[in-house]
Amino acid sequence: MRKRGGARDPAALPAFLGLGSNLGNRARTLAAALRMLDAHTGLELRQVSSVYETAPLGVTDQPWFLNMVARLDCGLAPMELLDAVQEVERRLGRVRARRWGPRSMDVDLLLLGDLSIQTPRLTVPHPELARRQFVLVPLAEIAPDLVLPGGRTAGDLAEGESETVRRLGPLADLVGGRETEEGGKT
Ligand code: ATP
Ligand code: MG
Ligand code: MG
Repeated sequence: MRKRGGARDPAALPAFLGLGSNLGNRARTLAAALRMLDAHTGLELRQVSSVYETAPLGVTDQPWFLNMVARLDCGLAPMELLDAVQEVERRLGRVRARRWGPRSMDVDLLLLGDLSIQTPRLTVPHPELARRQFVLVPLAEIAPDLVLPGGRTAGDLAEGESETVRRLGPLADLVGGRETEEGGKT
């Protein structure tokens, strides 16, 4: 949120980030990631979705995820933002094992203003954005009119809650919970 004494950066772009965790205390890890991002120079947390519990896709023999989407004002260059989110992942114990495998924290850069970026390290908009309900449902909650690649809006593409994307509620209501350190249910 607004940092003490910090004037709003007129050049900041809205950045939408997708956060996910399926190891350890997932809610507390999400909360820590948001705190770290907001504390980062050039980033200011503006809006968060509810938290959703979602079934793993692809690699299905792993615990369920907690997912949410956040909107930040970003005064950083795109690569600086990627460095910042990877630093947050690293500090929260992310071990890069197999792609799409279990992880304490995944922070993906979904959209950065209307920038289109294709480098070996960074693709924006995130290529899977419009195909993933675990991203679209929380995104539609905070930005239903946001136009996504392909021309449709988040609200239009999101199918709402389902068996595999279940709304749990605001993060603040979950961080005090009794989730074990072992992670979510399998
Ligand atoms: P997916 O991106 O399909 O959700 P993942 O999140 O499991 O997969 P990671 O292991 O977190 O993938 O990231 C792999 C690499 O993807 C990172 O090292 C990063 O350089 C690159 N990358 C490319 N585009 C993005 C993006 N938009 N957001 C985050 N990382 C990205
Ligand atoms: Mg990801
Ligand atoms: Mg990732």
